[in-house]
Amino acid sequence: MTISESGGSDLVADRECGDCTVCCVLFPIDQPDLVKLSGVACRHRGSTGCAIHPVRPNVCRDWFCGWRRLPMLDDAWRPDRSGIVVVFDDEGVPAGYPERPALKFILIGDERTLYTQAFLGYVAGLVDARVPVLLAIPGPPGTFGAKAFMNSRLEASVARRDAGEMIRIAADTLSILRAGDFEQVGFSHGDPAA
Ligand code: SF4
Ligand code: SF4
Repeated sequence: MTISESGGSDLVADRECGDCTVCCVLFPIDQPDLVKLSGVACRHRGSTGCAIHPVRPNVCRDWFCGWRRLPMLDDAWRPDRSGIVVVFDDEGVPAGYPERPALKFILIGDERTLYTQAFLGYVAGLVDARVPVLLAIPGPPGTFGAKAFMNSRLEASVARRDAGEMIRIAADTLSILRAGDFEQVGFSHGDPAA
């Protein structure tokens, strides 16, 4: 059992986390009952998932990635298979952009996934519909990742259905993100290393 196999009001029917435990590693947690660094496996993660599943913290019961919530993402989008974690994010969208939240695509695997027809086609549809799109990468352990707003970058190439230009823009954006600074995560509920 993993972090996201409990109930949820907007979950896709008959979709389970299975062997995926990506979110038990990727995200920082700063809660009274669990403190962990980003990019480090939770100490409760076992070989088959969460070792404390019946009594796991509420944050683990309540949080679900986009793959668990968006029926248009097929099984290939499960984060441990696709190398991309989709999450909803209210921050990072420019003021004045009408829609919220953004769909944030966090690349945790091979960047070539970003250059596939499946990914480009899905993102093009979002950009067409003016759904905000963020491309993100994790930082080193203990930091927040970095992200970039993609709609303004991609609108012209999406309008022309120019996949080559979309790929170039995604690759350039990745390079910029990787070269940036990563902010350290602060904790208020204890030392994650303790
Ligand atoms: S307690 Fe740790 S291993 Fe269990 S669901 Fe939460 S983050 Fe994952
Ligand atoms: S990343 Fe998504 S699919 Fe994977 S364990 Fe977390 S909620 Fe489940």
